[in-house]
Amino acid sequence: MSKKVQKTGYKKNLCRKCTGLCCRYAALPIETPEDWDDYDDIRWYLYHENIEVFLDEGDWYINIKNKCINLSETDYKCQIYDIRPRICRGYSDDNCDLTSDDDSSYEYELHFTSPGQMEEYMKIKFGPKVFDKLEKKKKKKKKKKKKKK
Ligand code: SF4
Ligand code: SF4
Repeated sequence: MSKKVQKTGYKKNLCRKCTGLCCRYAALPIETPEDWDDYDDIRWYLYHENIEVFLDEGDWYINIKNKCINLSETDYKCQIYDIRPRICRGYSDDNCDLTSDDDSSYEYELHFTSPGQMEEYMKIKFGPKVFDKLEKKKKKKKKKKKKKK
């Protein structure tokens, strides 16, 4: 797949017919998670609205599904085309959001669209009762507080 970290203008006719699909999100590379804390950080990302995380060709990305403010919803053109950022200039429509068949053609190795999905994945990686342990810790703390009173 073409990396979704790059954005385009509308230099070709194809882009002129498009509603600016590639200008409606920002996908950024993140460090490969290695331990519980790293996966828990990703779970935290996913608790926020319009955030997804995916793994593509061994690299992890956070996908912020927010439209660029420069995309016109009237004619779907970039309103700062001449000074658009480097990422936009470098993006190709050879295999972009429009020219790929659909989202599934990206064939992500992993794709998390909710914290629940990450929680299930963490249970597979760290054991099915891994969140039970967190809850037990919380209960213990509560008991200690009560005793002190
Ligand atoms: S999704 Fe493809 S066709 Fe649409 S604006 Fe972006 S590069 Fe052009
Ligand atoms: S700056 Fe222009 S080309 Fe780049 S993402 Fe925004 S609308 Fe698209």
